[in-house]
Amino acid sequence: MSDTIAPSSVQDNVRDVVIIGSGPAGYTAAIYAGRANLHPLVFEGFQKGGIAGGQLMTTTEVENFPGFPTGIMGPQLMMQMKEQASNCGAELVMEDVVAVDFSDRPFTIKSSSRSVQAHSVIIATGATAKRLHLPSETKYWNRGISACAVCDGAAPIFRGVELAVVGGGDTAVEEAIFLTKYGSKVHLLVRSDRLRASKVMQERIFKHPKITVHWHSLPVDVYGEEIVQGVKIRDAITNEERDLAVGGLFYAIGHTPNTELFTGQIELDPTGYIITKGKSTATNIEGVYACGDVQDHEYRQAITAAGTGCMAALEVERWLSK
Ligand code: NDP
Repeated sequence: MSDTIAPSSVQDNVRDVVIIGSGPAGYTAAIYAGRANLHPLVFEGFQKGGIAGGQLMTTTEVENFPGFPTGIMGPQLMMQMKEQASNCGAELVMEDVVAVDFSDRPFTIKSSSRSVQAHSVIIATGATAKRLHLPSETKYWNRGISACAVCDGAAPIFRGVELAVVGGGDTAVEEAIFLTKYGSKVHLLVRSDRLRASKVMQERIFKHPKITVHWHSLPVDVYGEEIVQGVKIRDAITNEERDLAVGGLFYAIGHTPNTELFTGQIELDPTGYIITKGKSTATNIEGVYACGDVQDHEYRQAITAAGTGCMAALEVERWLSK
């Protein structure tokens, strides 16, 4: 591509930057790009990633986002970020992107109702926590079932009661340890006879006085009145079922990065996350940046997503003015 790019005012139909995704990463990128007069167009998503606004839209109280000393509800935090992005000059559309073409410049981004061209793109499509799809899961979601212990574990309903975490990876082990701060006891439900978590984390969990590991244990459903009061567990070997009285069930069975759209166009790691270069948000395609959970399987916090959203917008600004 040429070294100089005509500003949007000259190529009216070509955007400086399009942002795909609307969690903390997408909105923060939009705030920074808006303030830099890049007039970002944000495809917030509609149905594809679950809900526009990302995973915080399905969370209750967020107590660890700095600046809210008494906490803030996840959806409210997202609405405020959205409003801020709009006030900073971002154009927001609640549409799913259905196709992208990064093989030609300017890039093409298609949603259900429009096709847009852009000199640069920020991908902030996030990741979706895997669910077990238990029969009563929808009924008890946020009423005792959660996919994020760090986000929800401190909620009053989980304090002083026995809790269960399902999964055997680093996330499950970390979350089980984290939950011991609130629950009276934590049960780790592992479907096989081994943990996938790192050795050091395994040692910590085996030694922990408040954690019991249940091998070959598969949750088959939850039960309770208004909120979860127990989990029905099936033994993967004997098929016998039993009840475990717990006040919360936390899923920690991995995440799926929302990268389906970019497969074959951008470099992904073997688990599907976008690979970014070093400490930057740059992808293998010049002018395409990725921020938030779509490129981060380690921290996955609203504040780290917002941080990388800021980085992506600053990097876009620098790249466009090169
Ligand atoms: P993983 O994919 O590593 O582990 C998922 C776990 O969930 C596995 O134990 C798996 O069982 C289990 N599981 C999957 N599906 C089901 C199911 N349907 N029913 C019951 N159990 C199920 O995911 P993580 O989120 O734990 O970790 C993702 C990556 O992030 C890893 O590379 C991890 O090391 C990294 N990570 C690093 C951290 C750190 O360094 N501090 C913290 C957290 C994550 P099975 O083993 O039988 O397949």
